[in-house]
Amino acid sequence: MRQVISVRDIEELIRRGENVRSLPDDALLTPSARDFLRDLEGNGVYKVTDSSNGTPIAAAAPKNITTKSSKADIDAFFRCADIHKLKEEICDVGKRLWQRAYVDGNGGNIAIRVSDELVLCTPTLVSKGFMKPEDICFVDLEGNQFCGPKKRTSEILMHLEIMKRQPRAKATVHCHPPHATAFAVAQVEPPTCMIPEIEVFIGKVPIAPYRTPGTPEMGKLVADLVDQHNTVLMGNHGAVSWSHVSVEDAYFKMEILEAYCRTVWVASQLGAPLKTFSAQHLQDLLKIKQTLGIPDPRIGLKECELCDNNEWRPGVSCAAPLPVTREDSSTVDGEAEKVVQQITTMIMERMAKP
Ligand SMILES: [Zn+2]
Repeated sequence: MRQVISVRDIEELIRRGENVRSLPDDALLTPSARDFLRDLEGNGVYKVTDSSNGTPIAAAAPKNITTKSSKADIDAFFRCADIHKLKEEICDVGKRLWQRAYVDGNGGNIAIRVSDELVLCTPTLVSKGFMKPEDICFVDLEGNQFCGPKKRTSEILMHLEIMKRQPRAKATVHCHPPHATAFAVAQVEPPTCMIPEIEVFIGKVPIAPYRTPGTPEMGKLVADLVDQHNTVLMGNHGAVSWSHVSVEDAYFKMEILEAYCRTVWVASQLGAPLKTFSAQHLQDLLKIKQTLGIPDPRIGLKECELCDNNEWRPGVSCAAPLPVTREDSSTVDGEAEKVVQQITTMIMERMAKP
């Protein structure tokens, strides 16, 4: 016998945070139930098909959810279709992190801010390559967990600290990509003016000092850097990025950073001097960056300050302009080569120690 669904049944379903799609396909909607669902259409997120005529109908998840909202409303919001889509995006990014070996064991974590004070995040002790949407947790900006059967990651405190300090941060990704992490272990900031991609989408990458993972102190040290930088290396640990666009965009920064660190590392082994492009070329990239709405503290700096790589090449400063090659105006950087050799030796020595 076909189930008859009344307005009260639908209200109860939403109150329990269940998906209206769970209604049986052949359920009979009472006329008032059909009107009720249609009234919710447009701002709703649950899509169901009216079995009597096949037209799509929708029921809404609660809006303007805050930490003060009722448990039922927070649960319903956590289970709605829009949030489900974001959970799937987190799982997708987790899979890509794992496939690229940017995470190991249960390492790495991902978060998306869905309201001023509520955040979706990954659980603890789960491989990022095999997460399911139902594993995702729901926390406030202090790390208190509201929903999700699994316990949230302890490292969420760092993500939340970034979101508190950087209001534009919609999503954050933390992982341990080996080449980028090697720079963090060697405490060497990646050099600049070598590959355009990182200059446009990231910029300079600072290193936050090491603290025990999951401690508030670790989060604060990283957060100190996120007003100027969208990607930060964490000393003796890994890397974290934030995006004002999406979780995929935050993940892209990890791909760009890791590819860059790998390329610089490989280039440093080739025995030829590394070249940087000129400060004028970087100016051009910063202009592109501005049109994309990506901030960079170097916008507005003098040309001579742009590619000085002071941290990476001690002693090179504005007063010592880089030589220009005849053919393509890019600069041959003997100093960089020397420092790469020094870094290589330093890292190899450290690795050789027990
Ligand atoms: Zn970590």
